[in-house]
Amino acid sequence: MSKKHWYSWYFEFNLLYRILIGLGVGVVLGLVFKEKILVIAPFGDIFVRLLKMIMMPIILSTLIVGASSVSPANLGKVGIRVIVFYLLTSAVAVVIGLAMGAVFQPQTQLDNFVETAGRDAKAPTMAQTLLAMIPTSVAQVIVNESILAVIFFALIFGIGVSYLRVSENERLKRAGDILYTFFDGIAEVMMLIIKGIMQYAPFGVLALVSGVLATNGPKVMGALVTVTIACFIGYAVHIIAVYGGLVKFYGGLNLKRYFKDAKDPFITAFVTRSSNGTLPVSMEAADNLGVPKNIYSFSLPLGATINMDGTAIYQGVCATFIALSVWGHGFSGTQIGTIVITATLASIGTAGVPGAGAIMLLLVLDSVGLQVTAGSAVAGAYALFLGIDALLDMGRTALNVTGDLSCTTVVAKRLNQIDMTKWR
Ligand code: ASP
Repeated sequence: MSKKHWYSWYFEFNLLYRILIGLGVGVVLGLVFKEKILVIAPFGDIFVRLLKMIMMPIILSTLIVGASSVSPANLGKVGIRVIVFYLLTSAVAVVIGLAMGAVFQPQTQLDNFVETAGRDAKAPTMAQTLLAMIPTSVAQVIVNESILAVIFFALIFGIGVSYLRVSENERLKRAGDILYTFFDGIAEVMMLIIKGIMQYAPFGVLALVSGVLATNGPKVMGALVTVTIACFIGYAVHIIAVYGGLVKFYGGLNLKRYFKDAKDPFITAFVTRSSNGTLPVSMEAADNLGVPKNIYSFSLPLGATINMDGTAIYQGVCATFIALSVWGHGFSGTQIGTIVITATLASIGTAGVPGAGAIMLLLVLDSVGLQVTAGSAVAGAYALFLGIDALLDMGRTALNVTGDLSCTTVVAKRLNQIDMTKWR
């Protein structure tokens, strides 16, 4: 048994509650002490800097691991279809998230705690954005934090690694395995570091939120409620329109029968907030729905790793809130395109564990010039979201696993590989 210290209670107390308390105390301190509370702003800055510190290594390692977990051997008829479905539904999810943001206009004017130069940068055209995805210097895009270009490189690199791993040539195969293990190791270390940083989150959130309240007043709390409602309505729309539509119209399957089994992983994901943790339940549901094991044993673990529709909706809503609140206007067409691409590709690197989507939100924001930097309104808004992340994460994880199961079932049906006797 580990030795008890005077501070042990802190680590034993549920982290979600600690962060929520941080949010609550931050609100009260901000309202009571007003501008004077800004003396504790550096404690918020510590948190922001820690998050920024891990962003690049996380993108590189998790995306390389995510892309290399798609074995070329599996890229047959089934594999390609599953991946295309995963990516398309995620892209639609981001659009729904952005649309929810536009409809609900979760907005409040947010000011920086400290003056920073220039608000929104001059927007590049869509062609420039797409071209800029292809880096001419890998080192440079990492240093400049050009998110899309780093994602592009990481995915290509990951695909390369996956080909090496199945090479007939022993030397190449070994090299591929070493690279995979190396980046997997980095990704695991980053996860550990995030866990450590999250232990500090209650203080970081407290300091940042008190700054937001001191600078902007209580009206921001109303906007936070709107964000939550917009996310959940977005989740519902996606389930009904996209999954319902796919299963019923594209798969020609009975919806009631589908949801009879799909509800188990949905509920499990809602309470565990982990796609990975829900995998056994999803597999059982797929089995009950007559999907053959050779399909779901590949597509569901892959989905838990790369398919995150709920997360994409959440990112769309949150990004819109921040843009409206900080810039005072929404996104340009190019920025919308950038967000759709970034959030879709970022979902490949989002781990199926609680809270991972909130970390990836950082890079979606970054890709359109909403940098989370010390003292910025963006950092304050981000802290507000983190304060209620448990709630938002429940809904998005439930959606993430339902997306995996829906795509898997529909692909199996379209390929005539589903056992329809289980649907009677
Ligand atoms: N918790 C989510 C999942 O496991 C990921 C996220 O935080 O968005 O699917």
